[in-house]
Amino acid sequence: MSKKLYGLIGFPLGHSRSADYFNQRFRSEGPEGSRYQLFPIPAVQGIVHLLEEHPDLAGLNVTIPYKEKIMPYLTALDDLAAQIGSVNVILIQSSGGLRRLKGFNTDAQAFIHTLPEPDRHRNALILGTGGAAKAVAYALNQTGIKSLFVSRHSSSPDTIGYDQLHRDPEIMAEHTLIVNATPSGMFPETDACPDIPYDRLDERYLLYDLVYNPDRTLFLQQGASKGAQIQSGEAMFVKQAELSFNLFTSIP
Ligand code: NAP
Repeated sequence: MSKKLYGLIGFPLGHSRSADYFNQRFRSEGPEGSRYQLFPIPAVQGIVHLLEEHPDLAGLNVTIPYKEKIMPYLTALDDLAAQIGSVNVILIQSSGGLRRLKGFNTDAQAFIHTLPEPDRHRNALILGTGGAAKAVAYALNQTGIKSLFVSRHSSSPDTIGYDQLHRDPEIMAEHTLIVNATPSGMFPETDACPDIPYDRLDERYLLYDLVYNPDRTLFLQQGASKGAQIQSGEAMFVKQAELSFNLFTSIP
């Protein structure tokens, strides 16, 4: 009987529903004895101690803020994760006393699978520049939607500041899909939202929030109040977890 341990690394993890999702699936579908735990590690180096402490660890999900920072700790990368530059699933195999950690990305596929009516949009704004933002940009590029990152700090040819969104009405007019790939608005900071000019929104826009807790963030509430279509991160969460489960159970 296989008794494997799986889990989620990130920090903080108060928002996560992953343990409920995976433990329920392991209970109903097996492999028998498999279990899933939350591992809140305050620094990414904590992965080293975690592996030492848990020799039965067979797989991990990776969440905010480690989807990029985890990459130096891996021994191999799936092609898609390498192209995106972000990892949200790790498969761990042990042989001859060595642990091999291979990184995968299921966020990009989950995002595109849950994006309503992609044909309605030619240009997208991606709020944030972290691991999830990179997966969203990759997925949008695959469907022919051009994206522009919006960041609090950096500025480069494909990244603008929030101040520019307020100053330049043309940018808002051209980008009808706006994806929140920041933690702004996530529990417990539910009264926060990304600093975009909400008064310029109307029914042509789709606001997609990767945050899934709460289901209806302030970002989405503000979009809905202007007539914009809205999509919460819930469906993407379920899809990326489903794809992760398939990877976890693909190894005998
Ligand atoms: P990350 O790697 O830490 O990146 C987050 C980015 O957001 C940062 O690079 C930063 O960009 C920006 N940011 C951070 N704090 C902010 C704040 N207080 N206000 C505005 N911007 C802020 O995190 P991630 O892994 O990409 O995750 C981002 C969010 O997506 C999290 O809430 C996560 O739970 C969610 N997510 C959901 C799903 C799903 O399945 N629904 C999947 C993946 C991620 P700048 O410094 O450039 O501004």
